[in-house]
Amino acid sequence: MAGRPDSGVVTRRRFAIGGIVQGVGFRPFVYRLARDLSLTGWVRNTTAGVELEVQGKDAALAAFERSLREETPPLAVIASLAAEEVAPCEETGFRILGSAGGASTIQVAPDSNLCSDCLRELFDPADRRYRYPFITCTNCGPRYSIITGIPYDRPKTTMAGFPMCPACLEEYHDPDNRRFHAQPVACPACGPQVRLQGSPHASASQPGQSGRGENAVGSAVELLENGLILAIKGIGGYHLAVNACDHSAVQRLRERKKRDEKPFAVMAADLAAAQRLALLNETERRLLTAPESPIVIARKTRDCPVSPLVAPNNGWLGLMLPYTPLHHLLMRGNFEALVMTSANVSDEPIAFEDDDALERLGGIADCFLVHDRPIHIRSDDSVIRVFQGSPLFYRRARGYAPRTVRLPFETPPLLGVGAELKNAICLSNGREAFLSQHIGDLQNSSTYDSFRRIIGHLAGLLEITPRAIACDQHPDYLSSLYATESGLPVTAVQHHHAHMAACMAENGLKGEAIGVVFDGTGYGSDGTIWGGEFLVGGYDGFRRAGHFRTVPLPGGDAAVREPWRMAAAYLHQIMGTDAFALDLPAIARQGELEKEMLAAMLEKGINSPPSSSCGRLFDAVAALLGLRHTVSYDGQAAIELEALAEAAEDDGVYPYRIGEAPSGSSAGAVIASGIELDFSPMFLKILSDLADTVPAAVIARRFHGTVAHAGTETCLRIAASTGLERIVLSGGVFQNRILSDLMYSGLVARGMQVYTHRLVPPNDGGIALGQVAIAGRRN
Ligand SMILES: [Zn+2]
Ligand SMILES: [Zn+2]
Ligand SMILES: [Zn+2]
Repeated sequence: MAGRPDSGVVTRRRFAIGGIVQGVGFRPFVYRLARDLSLTGWVRNTTAGVELEVQGKDAALAAFERSLREETPPLAVIASLAAEEVAPCEETGFRILGSAGGASTIQVAPDSNLCSDCLRELFDPADRRYRYPFITCTNCGPRYSIITGIPYDRPKTTMAGFPMCPACLEEYHDPDNRRFHAQPVACPACGPQVRLQGSPHASASQPGQSGRGENAVGSAVELLENGLILAIKGIGGYHLAVNACDHSAVQRLRERKKRDEKPFAVMAADLAAAQRLALLNETERRLLTAPESPIVIARKTRDCPVSPLVAPNNGWLGLMLPYTPLHHLLMRGNFEALVMTSANVSDEPIAFEDDDALERLGGIADCFLVHDRPIHIRSDDSVIRVFQGSPLFYRRARGYAPRTVRLPFETPPLLGVGAELKNAICLSNGREAFLSQHIGDLQNSSTYDSFRRIIGHLAGLLEITPRAIACDQHPDYLSSLYATESGLPVTAVQHHHAHMAACMAENGLKGEAIGVVFDGTGYGSDGTIWGGEFLVGGYDGFRRAGHFRTVPLPGGDAAVREPWRMAAAYLHQIMGTDAFALDLPAIARQGELEKEMLAAMLEKGINSPPSSSCGRLFDAVAALLGLRHTVSYDGQAAIELEALAEAAEDDGVYPYRIGEAPSGSSAGAVIASGIELDFSPMFLKILSDLADTVPAAVIARRFHGTVAHAGTETCLRIAASTGLERIVLSGGVFQNRILSDLMYSGLVARGMQVYTHRLVPPNDGGIALGQVAIAGRRN
């Protein structure tokens, strides 16, 4: 028992708290806590977080401190808490004071789903916010997507244009109310309104629906029930929605979105409905219902009712639950699930501004459900898969950005600008690294605009003025050009070193480790394209201890879009031009002219840059199995190969060769003179398996087993020669669950300490964190 309950001794303590503690109801929480314990003192916001003093008897103070740590409001995250004893003074009661100035290290709260209290009110006919699509309180709702500047106050949000009515104002000023100082608070009398309008491109045969408020939502539900495509304005942008079980409606959406085969995410009304679509384990259920409400990729049920066109050739389904009041209202319609896909055309970024959305989506959506609260900064849904009981990010955006990753060391103010595809940027200051939401592929000019806007916005919000910039070594990446043109000192970081450092940083590792980076593409230190890498080092530097045997990429980027070219390149490497005479679908399907052209390229080495990419190895095998001749989105061949491998149980491993890399790589070193991992023997065995009509699923499974086995074996050799036992797994290929599982368990079984990504994506979406960590040690 701490303290002396009846002791008359009065003490006073002062707390300084950092983290996400503003805009999340922290001050009223402290106020109520102090009042209930009969403590006196005050609390106030500072630019570093929250500061407070409490005074009273020891037992009450101890109870206060315990609750302060353990009963924080749902959206608050305490990153630091410093306490000190100060001299007691004469005072009565507890007060909430105005904000204090000073240097800022404030953290911005991410957007959050609707809380259970607001959900209850939403469907309570006696509540004055009954069926109001913007109901929210201190414990829930939009934050990051509506903040236009700091300090976080109503005028610095996109709610600025909605003056509160007397009833809302009263709640806003009452410390005992759940809406005390909740900036987005509104009601039907004073807040934003929804509106349903027809597409500007609508033909006469389409319904000219319109309406406001509750009518609009009711009509929208009817349209969805009738199989129409609706563009819906959400928290961070527009979604395209359609009844997920209506096959022809989904087909129409696919056609209108144009040659896109990417899986669509779906929204189910609640957990019970979600469980009719997918088999969910405990972690998946927890993630689905968490305040961040991401899309969770889960295995389809056997009789999953959604159209097969939602996620073609895929046993998995991206699933989410309603996270805004508007979603909850829409999900009352008569359908099992809605497709809710980011509203964009092929590679463009998600639409978020109204005029732009009407223009770009007019040819896709039949109707628009819009509202008049502006979205200040674009943010997609986050996408997660569960790995080893932890979240594995495919895309980190709404709900998570801009939450910090705590670095294992201090950095000056820095900006990491990421890579080219799946771009996200990262700002750091001290030990905090703020990774932005997923921005997208910078080759698209409107994504590049978004990239610049998010850098400016986030730097302003966090009050971080970067002293240096870290970028990829690739000289042609737009992000690298941005860095060069910034005028600030630039640290160019090797792509796979950044992957490795990102994984080390989020796991709090210092010193050296072995980095296994299995990736699609990255600019190598020797000018070739890397991607199947075994690195040794830490933030300060690295050496390439091993890599996949290089193979030419015939046609460069064309080889990425056309996996059959990779199959030909591997086979050509093994058997020369004989490869083109093989009776394989991957080869035989091609016209003579195409084959001759490819053969000439490979023979003469024209436009065929050498690459050690792991992603291309997956492409080649997918093509050999007749699975994918060409791809329509990044990683498609590997995703479908994994799906195929799911269908087989086989622990066979094909032969491979571990040799020494040809001269040119770290010569002279006793340890790790450069291992070369050669999969040629595997290709020969796959050819004979194909000839023996071994099922493609079994070959796909054996292939996964082989890469994992060879990868593990290579790690063990490097561990033996270096004495390192810590292994970090990074790179886009580790989104593959089968490969990750096999590598992880294989290495752990051999006594290695294995670290994977849990906070940031293993793909290029996590790179900026690694860049900042590396630059932090050099600046
Ligand atoms: Zn709420
Ligand atoms: Zn109101
Ligand atoms: Zn990469």
